[in-house]
Amino acid sequence: MLLRELTAGIDHIQGAGPAAARDLGRVGVNSVAELLTYYPRDWEDRSREVLLGDFNKSGAVCTTVTILAQDWFGSGRMRTLKVYVEDSSARAALVCFNRPFLEKQLVPGRRCRLWGRFMYKYGEIQSTSFEVELLPETDGAAGQPLGASGNNFGRILPVYPLSKDITQNLLRRLVKRGLEQYASRLENELPLPVMEKEALLPKAQALCAIHFPPDQKTLEQAKKTLIYEELFYLELMVGRRAMERRNLASRAIPPRASGEGKNSLQHRLLERLPFSLTQGQSNAVAELNQDMDSPYPMARLLQGEVGSGKTLVSFMAALKAIERGGQAVIMAPTELLARQHAENAAKLLEPLGLRIAFLTGNLKAGGRGALLGALASGDIDMAVGTHALFSKDVAYKNLSLVVVDEQHRFGVLQRHAIMAKGNTPDLLMMSATPIPRTLALTVFGDLDVSVIRDLPPGRKPVRTHLARESSEERVYAFIRGELEKGRQAYFVYPLIEADAEKDLKDAQSMARRLAEKIFPAFRSALVHSRLDEEEKRNTMELFRRGEVQILVATSVVEVGVDVPNATCMTIEHAERFGLSALHQLRGRVGRGGEQSYCFLVYSDELTDDGKTRLKVMLENHDGFVIAEEDLKLRGPGQIIGIEQSGYLNLALANPVRDQALLERTRETAFAILKDDPLFNRPENQIIAGVLRRSPPFSDLTL
Ligand code: ADP
Ligand code: MG
Repeated sequence: MLLRELTAGIDHIQGAGPAAARDLGRVGVNSVAELLTYYPRDWEDRSREVLLGDFNKSGAVCTTVTILAQDWFGSGRMRTLKVYVEDSSARAALVCFNRPFLEKQLVPGRRCRLWGRFMYKYGEIQSTSFEVELLPETDGAAGQPLGASGNNFGRILPVYPLSKDITQNLLRRLVKRGLEQYASRLENELPLPVMEKEALLPKAQALCAIHFPPDQKTLEQAKKTLIYEELFYLELMVGRRAMERRNLASRAIPPRASGEGKNSLQHRLLERLPFSLTQGQSNAVAELNQDMDSPYPMARLLQGEVGSGKTLVSFMAALKAIERGGQAVIMAPTELLARQHAENAAKLLEPLGLRIAFLTGNLKAGGRGALLGALASGDIDMAVGTHALFSKDVAYKNLSLVVVDEQHRFGVLQRHAIMAKGNTPDLLMMSATPIPRTLALTVFGDLDVSVIRDLPPGRKPVRTHLARESSEERVYAFIRGELEKGRQAYFVYPLIEADAEKDLKDAQSMARRLAEKIFPAFRSALVHSRLDEEEKRNTMELFRRGEVQILVATSVVEVGVDVPNATCMTIEHAERFGLSALHQLRGRVGRGGEQSYCFLVYSDELTDDGKTRLKVMLENHDGFVIAEEDLKLRGPGQIIGIEQSGYLNLALANPVRDQALLERTRETAFAILKDDPLFNRPENQIIAGVLRRSPPFSDLTL
């Protein structure tokens, strides 16, 4: 059976001995299927002639030459052979580093095929990186057509990623053998109508052509076919995962609680608010209400611009859960943020009769015991806290809603752990870092998504300015003016304390300098991750109350912190921060009715990347646009929450580059699943690559 043959070891390929099997094993190629899907990283087109005279018009020369003369230069171990050659267009020199044996082969008068990268040096066209293949001595002066020659000429050659002990020629040889032995029997892995609609190649042909393309056009078709296949199976996984959720523990539709409608807790909260919900907030609430009324558990991602009021939306969800006799938890990544949520909850929800607890790792033993008792007995309706919410000894009577704020700050296991405290609870994940469309289609593609695009009325866009480090005094002067008007300011630094190795400003030294030298008339304070919670809390509290006007910090203030009277954000060494951090930091201001400002202070040694990031920040306010730019700059593997999973570790497809294709595969895969929920082909699991390389999908989003 083919499947078994494909999963068998490399040594089943003719000519692959134990040594080759061992060496390939080191690059993760252990089976026939893995060898066949060990795709080239590039191709060298040796099918078309590129004359020596055109060496700088193309990446490489590919021609037939006559050997003119030999020469040696250098001495001792450095003695090196140099061979002069000529084709119909020009003369050139081959510098044969470490290849003295070529002396015997490249004798004057002989003709050979030549492939190499050339440059103009010391008055001649030279190459140190070339390959030659001798033509038979009887060969007539006219030579053969290029296509008719030996192994590595006259065709488009694959270039594989290598490692020690593995050579291009070994891989080329084994892959060729493998294809000869198995390819013709490979079945198509995509449904025929899809292949026809997209003009894709049959699987066997695509696989052969990706390794040994007969021509450029077929190579492109092969790439498209295999990329489509990868994305298709990725989306099939996404679609299946979404379906599984739906079928998972389908529960009795929760009873309508007596208080729903006009008397509902949600309604009563809205009446108490000094403002009304924005359109985006109302839509999100409507969507999650619908989810929570449905017979399968909610799995919703709430995306919203920084400051768009996601917290309030999550409170609305909590009210619905609690009204029906359930318990809700709101989990935040830092104690600072958890406390802020707890305080808001106390202010807004306690007057409605809710019993709220605040649970973090710092809770002292006595109070903690009582609190855990109350959670277990159901005397507490809502717990707000950090990862302490899912500590081993914490039990809930009836946990029915889990809210994960700043979801990307939590690992997969942590999200699992909190979900496991309930009985398939509803899940609401919140993300302030907008998720680019590509990722929404893949990594988060099985979640329902709500997006809040609007900000509460009256907010003015933050004015962003770039400033050189050398003109920081002007920035300080401007901020002094704002402080005098009664506003507050953040100063953010990349380091907590001075580091002798790095020529960077740090929060500690700058806190001193700002307090003593620059803003002596105002009160400032320092907050960073190494302070103890109590100190952090006190500082934040003073800042929130306006008793401290200047908050000097590291990126701990990045997430969530909400102080509407703060109008100035200064980020020094801004080029050191990633785009999403910069966007988050800037989002700390512009939260009230006053005009706010963000100063990105950069040092003189700017890298190109740093420059691009600052430019993106200057020109964009929309978090979704910034997130797309971030994705382009860093690639999907770098996006927080994904690098840890090894997910999107695709062989050929690049979801960012191939987004149009991705959207189509998604449509197709979802449509197929709808008709045939069991759609599957066993071979796919081996050859499609995606499944082989990726951890189970569920690990990422749940
Ligand atoms: P984020 O979405 O960044 O988590 P928050 O939930 O912290 O935003 O809300 C930001 C601020 O906006 C808070 O001070 C909150 O009270 C306020 N807010 C939320 N919704 C509204 C609204 N509809 N109208 C006016 N202010 C609002
Ligand atoms: Mg928030």
